[in-house]
Parts: sequence; structure tokens; C-alpha cells
Amino acid sequence: MRNRSESEKEFSRLLIRWYESNKRSLPWRATRDPYKIWVSEVMLQQTTVQTVIPYYEKWIVLFPDLQAFSRAPLQKVLKTWQGLGYYQRAKNMHKAAKIITSRFEGNFPTDYEELISLPGFGPYTTAAVLSITSDQPYPAIDANVRRVLLRLKSLKKEADPNQDGELLRFLSPLLPQKKIGTFNQAMMELGALVCRPKNPRCLLCPVSPFCQAYQDGEQEIIPTPKKNVTKKIEAVLAIIEKNGRYLIQKRPSTGLMADLWEFPGGKKQTGESLEAALRREIREELGVDVERAERLTVVRHAYTQFKVTLYAYACRLTKFPLAEKKHRRWVSLKNLRRYPFPSGSAKIVEFLENR
Ligand code: SF4
Repeated sequence: MRNRSESEKEFSRLLIRWYESNKRSLPWRATRDPYKIWVSEVMLQQTTVQTVIPYYEKWIVLFPDLQAFSRAPLQKVLKTWQGLGYYQRAKNMHKAAKIITSRFEGNFPTDYEELISLPGFGPYTTAAVLSITSDQPYPAIDANVRRVLLRLKSLKKEADPNQDGELLRFLSPLLPQKKIGTFNQAMMELGALVCRPKNPRCLLCPVSPFCQAYQDGEQEIIPTPKKNVTKKIEAVLAIIEKNGRYLIQKRPSTGLMADLWEFPGGKKQTGESLEAALRREIREELGVDVERAERLTVVRHAYTQFKVTLYAYACRLTKFPLAEKKHRRWVSLKNLRRYPFPSGSAKIVEFLENR
């Protein structure tokens, strides 16, 4: 490893000094327990700190340590995660916790190769956990750090994780000899508080003398905005009630929102009316016909990858479909709350509770 230049040393010194007097007091910052740091890091991916705090606090009460988490039923894990999105992350955490408990006898791996081999551990999470908990020399690039680095280097491109290699080559020599976890957290905090996506506060920035975008007056146009076309989906849902119980079913174990529960129904096809889509979906899914359908409510929800409009209908069917213990259940209104639903469907549950 080459020696760090004086300017690289000065960069990390100024950054850490700023962090130590400006960092927010966050629940996961009071610990170096790798399990808790891991939970916080996974939750924080693509979610704001303010959203994560109540989730994290509830999680630590329900699953205070790795053993408790690995023993918890997956349904309880998904329910606790409900609303954070990216449910695969919670499932991967659960799988990884079981592996750590069995293969590593409950000891959180401290070796990079061992840790990154576990489900859900990519370069970012592995580097963040190892640097924050045991100061291991791995630079961590999350969305905030990516934006800071693009601006420091004045790279006019999209913030694309697939191109982190170039940023890592720039970031690695900036890492100090000690306090590597602090440095990584300071970079993240700088992105969150100062080098914000819009209106970066360059006048308050401790590393502005090192920032090419600032010197060029181009910080506002970096990174280049993504050309995102958000997909819009319309879906119909059947609210089927029998003696005060509602029919719900479990999504497949792979793919989008795997293992979550939902009301029967599905996507409306192009050119199809809502009612026709409802009849087709119910026939396909439950093998019965809709006798009568009455619109109950419409909810909208924006997921990261798409926006959905859900049309919920109270349905009377030609006959009641049979429940299957594993994948299809009749559940009382009170107990619906215990099932993990995608956020859009959770709004329908809320509607049913409040009507
Ligand atoms: Fe970001 Fe401005 Fe600091 Fe550059 S000077 S790193 S653009 S806050």
C-alpha cells in the first residue's frame, strides 16, 4: 500500500473532526455490536434515517440479539419489516442469522471473505459492518458517499453503483490508519447533512478545499439525474368475507415481495376493464366466478420500482374457495394485522379496520 499524501491525510483529519462535532445522535451509534450495526445498515439502504429509527428500535426490542433473531419465525420478521420495502433483504438477513448461529456458533464473522459469503452481504454492508465494529480497513460506498465522491472528483455522470470501482480507487487512499469506521460514517454523514442531493451546503463543508465540483461551481449538476421512467400499474383486489373472516393468500417464495400476504387479485391488462380484470383474476386464482362486485376503495402507493393503484372490490363469489393452511387462509379482521402485507395492501387492511 502506498503512503498517503499530506493532502489525503488532511482530508480525513478535517472530515473526522467535523463529524465528531456534528454527528447526529442515532440509536445504532451507541453500540459496536455487529448484529445491531448490521440491522441498522441494512435498514438504512435506500431509506431515510427518520424512517428507520422507529423500525430499528422496535426490531431491537423484538429481536434483541442474533440468537433471538435467528429463532424468530419468518412471518414475524417480515411483519416487523413491513413498510421498509425490499423484503428480500429481511429474508436474507434471516438466512444469514441462521448460518451465523449454526456454522459460526453464533459468533459474528470478522473475516471479510466469510462475511461477504453470507446471504445479503454485498461489498457495502460487509465493509460498513467490519469498519464500524472493528475498524477494519474497508471503504464503504453508500448512496450518500457515492454522491460526495462524484462531486469531489467532479464526475458528471449518474450515481451508478456498478461504477463504484473508479470511486473506490479514489476513496481508498483517503482512509486513515485508525478510526476507519468513524471515517466511513463521517463520509455518510457528510452526504446526509451537508453534501445533500439538492442545495449542498458547501459553505459549511469541511472538505470544500478538496472539492473539484465546488471549485468549478458545478456541485448542483452532479450527479446527473437518472432517466427514470416510473412504471405505473393498476391492479384489482377482491375482498372476500365469510363469517367475519377475509380470504388472503401468500405470494410465492421468490420474486417481488416474496412470502408476503395479499388479497386475491392481480394486474389489469391493457384494454381490459377493471371489472373484467377482477373476474379473470379470481377465476384464474381461485377457480370460482365473481357473482357480484362492489367498489370499496382505491389506494395508491409508490414503491421504488413502480407506482400502483389498487382497486379493492367487495366480492360475492359463486362459492367459497377452500383455505389451504400454508398459502390461503380465512383471517379475522383483528388478525389481519399479524400478517406481513405489501404497503399498498396494508392500506386496504387499514381501510377495512376503519370503515
Ligand atoms: Fe459536497 Fe459542496 Fe462539500 Fe463539494 S464542497 S463535497 S459539493 S458539500
